[in-house]
Amino acid sequence: MDSSTLLEPHTVVGLPTAPHVITRGEGVRVWDTEGKEYVDGVAGLWCVTLGYSEPRLVEAAAKQLERLPFYGSFNHRTADVTVALADDLAALSPIPMGRVFFGNSGSDANDSAIKFAWFYHCAKGRSHRKKILSHHRGYHGATTAAGSATGLAHIHNGFGIPLPGFLRMHTPDVLSTQANGLSDEEFVDWLIDELELLISQEGPDTIAAFIAEPIMGAGGLVIPPDGYYARVEEVLKQHDILFIADEVITGFGRTGSMFGTTEFGLRPDMITVAKGLSSAYLPISAVLVSGEVCDVLAKGSQEIRSFGHGFTYSGHPVAAAVARETLAIVQERDIPGRVRAAAPVLTNALDKFLGAPLVRDVRTYGLLGGVEFDAVACGLRPGEPGKELVTAAAEHGVLLRFAGDTVVFAPPLVSTDADLEEMVDRFAAAYRSFLSTHGV
Ligand code: PLP
Repeated sequence: MDSSTLLEPHTVVGLPTAPHVITRGEGVRVWDTEGKEYVDGVAGLWCVTLGYSEPRLVEAAAKQLERLPFYGSFNHRTADVTVALADDLAALSPIPMGRVFFGNSGSDANDSAIKFAWFYHCAKGRSHRKKILSHHRGYHGATTAAGSATGLAHIHNGFGIPLPGFLRMHTPDVLSTQANGLSDEEFVDWLIDELELLISQEGPDTIAAFIAEPIMGAGGLVIPPDGYYARVEEVLKQHDILFIADEVITGFGRTGSMFGTTEFGLRPDMITVAKGLSSAYLPISAVLVSGEVCDVLAKGSQEIRSFGHGFTYSGHPVAAAVARETLAIVQERDIPGRVRAAAPVLTNALDKFLGAPLVRDVRTYGLLGGVEFDAVACGLRPGEPGKELVTAAAEHGVLLRFAGDTVVFAPPLVSTDADLEEMVDRFAAAYRSFLSTHGV
């Protein structure tokens, strides 16, 4: 298939290779143009939570396409299904709502949440509060604002971002050099000292919001040490700095709770969701805005009389219908419960890599798993082991992704125990071939 006209997202400059083209999916499996079958260990891109052939989602889309394929949310007019989805999300939300704003991607949900934080402070007469805090290695998207909050250099290079005022904190990664030799408690103290110092240096009255993932995905599957976010929240609340929880990966069951916010006992002011909201069958995202923030947004101020933010496809009716059906299935089938039951299967399978040659660490949480490799011990540059392993994994029939030196598993949440074991078995075969390539 000629794919030379496609400008591929997230690719390497000047690499004229043709992408691997997938043509069909069923359950947790997909097939490519050669007819080769793969078990999808990363659910597309952490997103096809209900697998590739859920008939109810197809039917929901078809019915909505017939009934009302589009009506935008503009001029105080919107589609019935969009309103119904907002109600569904508000009822599910783990924070006191508030209202729901719709977008089309995780990136624009985070852009929107950042703009709402800016608007919130403007409406409170503090238009000078514009700075945004986030983590090194955090991933919040690739648009200009969300990309600025993202803490990964390859998202910035060549684009003139981060924009001024996007400030970075260290990653709450217990394997990082900053944590070296410290207990988890001492490391949390260190991180909080850093946060407090940053706020006092910058001036609390210049900072609008802090954005973070409950579990960091694209930054290498980082699970923060116990108590970290509770301590961060204390500091934020003292200064009325808003907390945006980016649940684009962790929303809708991935951690074993409906939201990572519940799983980790967080109290964010806004939650952004996408991916699993529609099991990725159609693009849709949302910002769940707390009641407290909404009240301020709704009032505006003497100077700001309109709320000038939104997209043509905000709350697109067909995507909204699919999202409503996704949420219904997630609840009816107790997908978070299924994740809690399946998590030990993934953990047991991946724990076999603990202490194996060239492996630095194994981490799992819910249906997220990561095997981190030691690039130096592999005799490779950072990033290379993951890339080689993911390529080998595809050759052995399992699709995975890498984040830094970590090979990531984020399977569909409907994976059976046997599916999970098969994914890890196929990866183990790839790992053995990687070892033999490197003479280990
Ligand atoms: N936030 C997180 C945590 C993500 O993992 C992603 C994408 O992977 C995004 C935001 C951006 O979402 P999108 O690619 O839909 O813009």
